[in-house]
Amino acid sequence: TNIIPQNRTNYYNVWCIFTKVASNSPMRRKFQIFTNSLLRFASVDIAFHVISDDDSRDIAAIVIQNVMVNTGKFMKVFYYNVHQLAEQLEDIVSVMSPHFSSKPGTYYSDALFFISLGLHRIAPSYQKLAAMFDADMKFRRDVKDLFEEFNKFGKEALFGLAPELTPVYRHVLYLYRNKHPMTMFGEPRHKGGYPGFNSGMILFNLERLRESRLYNEIVNKDNVKAMTEKYHFKGHLGDQDFYTLLGMERPELIHMVDCGWNRQLCTWWRDRGYADIFANYSECHSEIKLWHGNCNTPIPND
Ligand code: UDP
Ligand code: MN
Repeated sequence: TNIIPQNRTNYYNVWCIFTKVASNSPMRRKFQIFTNSLLRFASVDIAFHVISDDDSRDIAAIVIQNVMVNTGKFMKVFYYNVHQLAEQLEDIVSVMSPHFSSKPGTYYSDALFFISLGLHRIAPSYQKLAAMFDADMKFRRDVKDLFEEFNKFGKEALFGLAPELTPVYRHVLYLYRNKHPMTMFGEPRHKGGYPGFNSGMILFNLERLRESRLYNEIVNKDNVKAMTEKYHFKGHLGDQDFYTLLGMERPELIHMVDCGWNRQLCTWWRDRGYADIFANYSECHSEIKLWHGNCNTPIPND
């Protein structure tokens, strides 16, 4: 007999981190809205991969069960223990956190912010493509349409990310921009600038990542250090700081996804000295397909 579980390859792999959640915490409600909107609009089979700790996992299971009942739809669910993943990715975390963490050294809160950079080592090898989402997001469209973006990837693209919609990297690149007054790094998109990436939604070509010698060299200690020194870059936003630098050094490795697929709502930087230019960064004229209620911003109800 010849029984190969080929059906697995037809699933759309959706990843989400859900940790440190108490049963009454706001994160539970966010995760419920995320999961509900994901399943409600989905026209494809979803394998939902939840990275969690023991307590949060139990809460996730209840939320997901309720969502399946309420939507009348089903998805496969897999859980991964965040402590175990943190151990598996210790090398990447120890390289990244000195440069991209607000207070490096707090073992597992650090790991949380860098898991995406090693997802290709965690995801079982039958997963060729995957998407990862923050739990503070809400779909307005079918996740299938987002996966269509993989067809637009250039030959070398490993990741797909949407632009950061605040001037945070204008701020972080202050010194570099002073030394290089003509640079487009840190400028808004409307004049051909590069505002960096937001990592609330990440597309992965896992197959290419596993095979990429280039990527696995770039994430080593010396290369990351060299990149941060070149741009005088000291970040605090975890993986998205790294993606932003990678997009400057190796733009061919990251496909820029339409801003409508990560419509960030946080206005924190507008009130921190950037009121005059904030709108240049936050503007997104595309149809909104995925809301991101970042920095605890409420998501509109439509
Ligand atoms: N997260 C989590 N537990 C936490 C903090 C964060 O599971 O205690 C996950 C969750 O998926 C969340 C993501 O990490 O959406 C990023 O954090 P958050 O969305 O709050 O950051 P922001 O988008 O506001 O910068
Ligand atoms: Mn978020």
